[in-house]
Amino acid sequence: MTFSLQRYLDELAPLVNVDCGTFQREGIEVIAALMADKYEQMTGWHIKRVECGEAGIGLEIRNQPTNRHIDVLLIGHMDTVFPKGTAAERPMHVEEGFAHGPGVSDMKSGLLNIVYALRALPMDDRDKLSICVCMNPDEEVGSIHSSAWLETVARQARYVLVAEAARADGGLVKARKGMARYKIAISGRAAHAGNEPEKGRSAVTELAHWLVTLDSMKDIEAGTSINAGVIEGGTGANIVAESASALIDVRFWDNNAYHAIDQAIRGRALHPYTPDVTVKLAREAYKPAMVPSIETEHLMNLVETAAFDEKVPIHWKAVGGGSDANNTAALGIPSLDGFGPVGANFHSDEEYLQLDSIEPRIRLLTRVFSLLANQKTV
Ligand SMILES: [Zn+2]
Repeated sequence: MTFSLQRYLDELAPLVNVDCGTFQREGIEVIAALMADKYEQMTGWHIKRVECGEAGIGLEIRNQPTNRHIDVLLIGHMDTVFPKGTAAERPMHVEEGFAHGPGVSDMKSGLLNIVYALRALPMDDRDKLSICVCMNPDEEVGSIHSSAWLETVARQARYVLVAEAARADGGLVKARKGMARYKIAISGRAAHAGNEPEKGRSAVTELAHWLVTLDSMKDIEAGTSINAGVIEGGTGANIVAESASALIDVRFWDNNAYHAIDQAIRGRALHPYTPDVTVKLAREAYKPAMVPSIETEHLMNLVETAAFDEKVPIHWKAVGGGSDANNTAALGIPSLDGFGPVGANFHSDEEYLQLDSIEPRIRLLTRVFSLLANQKTV
């Protein structure tokens, strides 16, 4: 099958020119219908729609739906981070070797590359593999409504490949930092700061203690960072502050180090610094760190062989951001990421897709499937 860039772009544009930010369910539905159609055309694929609560629909597509074992699970997300109106404002356009548009590389081209790689896979090889493709509607908010489903599927899988974009320098992703986000809401007691300061319990002072403590828990060398990105509190200089809040972002390589921090701040919330003050702590997002295991390294070797066979130069990167690979890796399932074409500047209007990377990355993925299929029978 010869690759036509024009045909690829003709298939990509309808996926980009849809407002499908997380929770824009109509848009997600459009993407799901377009993607399901591509698998229907291929024949031999069983398509299951999965309800993901308020996030809308997800797709689970398999070639051996009754097989309890999955050899390779591919994951991609259908949502973007962009508000309604973005697709009309700046639809996909192609210029000097790059395509631009909302979600063009994060990750509509990743979804499409999976389709192309499977189309190109010889039927013999396909029949040897139990393949599953999951497309979720809410990755950009941490897959809150789809992670339980993805975990259930991943537990049946030997390997997980996530088709987020390859890095700008072509790198695939073998490790990702973990992340957690907390909201701290502090309630104190208001009082006139001039007349009866002793009656007040300052939520702002309590928050100040928290900020100093949180800062002392970071370990930049080990890659553990804690950032109080937003704080709020108080209503006037002459009023003891009744309430204060903060949004905290934690990033880490070491899951144990993170758990120690989590335990410490949960404990502290039960025993605030200031008497009579209450602290409500909510963890609003969480992804464990993805750190390669020996099994992951075996998979990396196989991918390197595929890259060598296809003459596609690759290398491995550890990156800061999280993806669905973090969750599957935390289950102990070898997981790698970055199997989409090369792109960068995600979540901005500078987002781009590098056109000359599309075809090589499709070949790479097809070859990975073939090697998996044939290593199995050895
Ligand atoms: Zn993404």
